[in-house]
Amino acid sequence: MAVIKMLGTGHGATFDLYNTCFVIQNDEGFFLIDTGGGMEIMRRLALSNIKLEDIKNIFISHSHTDHILGLIWMFKKLYGKVVQGEIKENINIYCNDVVHEAIITVAPQVLSDRLWNTVASVVDFVVLENNDKYNINGIEYEFFDIIAKGTKQFGFECILDDNRFIFLGDEPFNLSLSERIKGADYVTHEAFCLDKEASIFRPYEKNHSTALSAAKTMEEFGVQNLILYHTEESHGSERKSLYTEEAKSVFSGNVLVPNDLEEIQLVKKR
Ligand SMILES: [Zn+2]
Repeated sequence: MAVIKMLGTGHGATFDLYNTCFVIQNDEGFFLIDTGGGMEIMRRLALSNIKLEDIKNIFISHSHTDHILGLIWMFKKLYGKVVQGEIKENINIYCNDVVHEAIITVAPQVLSDRLWNTVASVVDFVVLENNDKYNINGIEYEFFDIIAKGTKQFGFECILDDNRFIFLGDEPFNLSLSERIKGADYVTHEAFCLDKEASIFRPYEKNHSTALSAAKTMEEFGVQNLILYHTEESHGSERKSLYTEEAKSVFSGNVLVPNDLEEIQLVKKR
């Protein structure tokens, strides 16, 4: 049984929501997808009952602050664990070449030599090419370039409990990937704001979508379950119902708008 543990669901500059990142947990372990932008990652992991030393696999989708910088704080904490002898096996960090370059450039500049050298000794970077496949915790993941307008960004496809699950990162879906998402059981897609509030939040200028526009596209390709995340936070506890309602107006499948720290249990719908 795989469970998705949402650590954060906010966009790149939210205060009350943590930046979008999550863990895929199954019987074999934890796979961390992005790290958010700050030290809060450590508290989110703790609140989700996940120990740093138990995370052996991390994927960073792209090099923007809200996805990559939490890793620096994880490194700081990891250092102590390495010194204490608590890290028994190396940690794999899966990322594209741009992300890899960003990490190995920034980390040595912001961490002490001793800390970085120690952490680097237990980290193995797996630099991804488009369509590379890796088995992580017994699940085969195919990583692919989402053909972002911004910096190079990768998503992935995998089978979770018989569901074809596709992670699309934090940019609007690129139509040239249509074949890949057709009929998918679960697709994750960013929704910066409600469509009716697009004039306030201006998602398109920031290369983001609305709940309505994301749902329309996913409906077109017969997606069964749509997970919306990477949102603004002005609606507080109303966000889930407002975004769900707007997406459902054009989407015949199931819409999920998880809160921070919510767990998603995957259901086979067909
Ligand atoms: Zn982002």
